[in-house]
Amino acid sequence: VPVVGVLALQGDVREHLIALAAADAVARPVRRPEELAEVDGLVIPGGESTTISKLAALFGLLEPLRARVREGMPVYGTCAGMIMLADKILDPRSGQETIGGIDMIVRRNAFGRQNESFETAVDIQGVEGDPVEGVFIRAPWVESVGAAAKVLAEHEGHIVAVRQGNALATSFHPELTGDHRVHALFVDMVRAERARRSL
Ligand code: GLN
Repeated sequence: VPVVGVLALQGDVREHLIALAAADAVARPVRRPEELAEVDGLVIPGGESTTISKLAALFGLLEPLRARVREGMPVYGTCAGMIMLADKILDPRSGQETIGGIDMIVRRNAFGRQNESFETAVDIQGVEGDPVEGVFIRAPWVESVGAAAKVLAEHEGHIVAVRQGNALATSFHPELTGDHRVHALFVDMVRAERARRSL
């Protein structure tokens, strides 16, 4: 069974642990580099990206996170987690650093001005069946992607889900809906990477 961590510095960690368990992974919180070393994949939750960034630096996790993502560890970021996986963010708060891993430019709080928070059906490439319920909470969108990144979903012309290799990111929060198909897709990515490594 794949072991999937949830970066547990700030944000909706518990909801991801529950969704991952429902998607047949062993799920654990990750706060220290030693804990990061033990997982096959990692979720970066929603919350506040500036806080997650600061705490990751403080806990000595930023470099270990970058190293594992570079080595191809499967990683999935929702909302603030999407921001953390962006190679570049527009108007970052001063000192705000990302892990990177996806060649995309992300705009923070992009949906925020019109609408603090909303729900809408989102069609995601690779998720079978009905559209998923997209919960957007002061959500970012992806302004543009590089050639290596694949757009998986859009909402009103804005990119809201992206995959590049083993890195997956959504603007919205599937962990809040009780529909575990996106987590199942990610756990499949973790399983596939594990199988590849044990060949
Ligand atoms: N606006 C938040 C940020 O910039 C993200 C909000 C969320 O994760 N729900 O980090």
